[in-house]
Amino acid sequence: MLKCRDIEQMAGQLQDDELNWRQRLSMRMHLIMCHHCRRFLKQFAAIKKLAEHSVREPASDDEVKSVMDKINGSPWEPDRE
Ligand SMILES: [Zn+2]
Repeated sequence: MLKCRDIEQMAGQLQDDELNWRQRLSMRMHLIMCHHCRRFLKQFAAIKKLAEHSVREPASDDEVKSVMDKINGSPWEPDRE
């Protein structure tokens, strides 16, 4: 069974689609039980998206706000593909 520390280390690979199905499955099993990691991954994804966008042009206040709303808003759904 994965630990929270493992999830944090795997987050970057998950975003880059570098995890195999077995890793994804064990990650998903952990996320079902662990609210902390669900929140962590949601924030990680939002920040990464914002960072990639900022390479091209600086994020506007509205974009930053929409990311923050996502982080604070509805729960992340690990089953969504
Ligand atoms: Zn966890």
